[in-house]
Amino acid sequence: MAELFYDEDADLSIIQGRKVAVLGYGSQGHAHALSLRDSGVDVRVGLPEGSKSRVKAEEQGLRVVTPAEAAAEADVIMVLVPDPIQAKVYEDAIKGNLKDGDALFFGHGFNIRFDLIKPPANVDVCMVAPKGPGHLVRRQYEEGRGVPCIVAVEQDASGNAFALALSYAKGIGGTRAGVIKTTFTEETETDLFGEQAVLCGGASALVKAGFETLVEAGYQPEIAYFECLHELKLIVDLMYEGGLEKMRWSISETAEWGDYVTGPRIITDATKAEMKKVLGEIQDGTFARNWINEYNAGLPKYNEYKKADSNHLLETTGKELRKLMSWVDDEA
Ligand code: NDP
Ligand code: MG
Ligand code: MG
Repeated sequence: MAELFYDEDADLSIIQGRKVAVLGYGSQGHAHALSLRDSGVDVRVGLPEGSKSRVKAEEQGLRVVTPAEAAAEADVIMVLVPDPIQAKVYEDAIKGNLKDGDALFFGHGFNIRFDLIKPPANVDVCMVAPKGPGHLVRRQYEEGRGVPCIVAVEQDASGNAFALALSYAKGIGGTRAGVIKTTFTEETETDLFGEQAVLCGGASALVKAGFETLVEAGYQPEIAYFECLHELKLIVDLMYEGGLEKMRWSISETAEWGDYVTGPRIITDATKAEMKKVLGEIQDGTFARNWINEYNAGLPKYNEYKKADSNHLLETTGKELRKLMSWVDDEA
């Protein structure tokens, strides 16, 4: 059974007694920096000279210095720059500024799990990973709520690393919703698998294949778009609220029967065998190695895939239809 932690289990004064550097001011960085500041924590943001995010962070009342200056000043360093550049930021700005008793924090375990960053033994290494996009993390905090977080300690040099991580999670509202204890390995591997096999890769491939099947059989693309993409949100909302059971309670008996008999013909034993292979390639580092190589080569295949999908009939059809549904854009 997972270990869960709430507000009463976390001591905010621990993080209030530290100097925190938040490196990066994107989706997660802005949420962490602003909410920690509002929780009474001494925060500085680390961004390179000329970074687009600098203006925004300064406008929002934060003190911005370079990543190296931030790491030198602080004793808790949260790395919230894109995963493929974290190793470089670590080498250039963090490594030389780590002192005994400092803590190195991450929002995702990728670089530690795949040994791209190897911190020295005299620092705590922790993760506080909100299970939601950064803009929601900030909005929920401002509304007195929070996004659930998962927290892990890879290296406990101080002997108090977990209490420090919980305290940090409290500072961004995570313990209001609940914090689950995990490990860098579990977080990284399940996160990569989830986004590849189910949430992003699996879902977009399923939608595309369904859409193409209908269009190739001569049905109108607009009808296929509604059936295979638009309605998916309504179904997922029901799953989110009450699991598969609530979704099946809401749909027609005919749809429910089709769910039982057809679902397993689409996601077959072969699909599950492929999922196991995908998980194996995540676990043995193949995926991470390929992704870092692609990134360092300037993203040639990534840009090819992106372009091909943006020209897909599913996308061009959707763009036109969404213009007629003004409320769809407003929900973003
Ligand atoms: P973003 O891409 O949204 O933001 C990256 C930020 O880093 C930008 O402010 C960018 O500035 C800045 N940056 C770029 N290069 C440097 C550098 N050399 N030094 C300092 N700052 C730099 O990142 P995310 O917030 O999406 O991701 C950050 C981390 O959080 C990742 O580890 C990710 O896996 C994790 N995470 C993200 C989630 C999300 O909701 N997106 C959810 C959970 C975890 P500029 O304006 O100049 O580009
Ligand atoms: Mg991820
Ligand atoms: Mg229907």
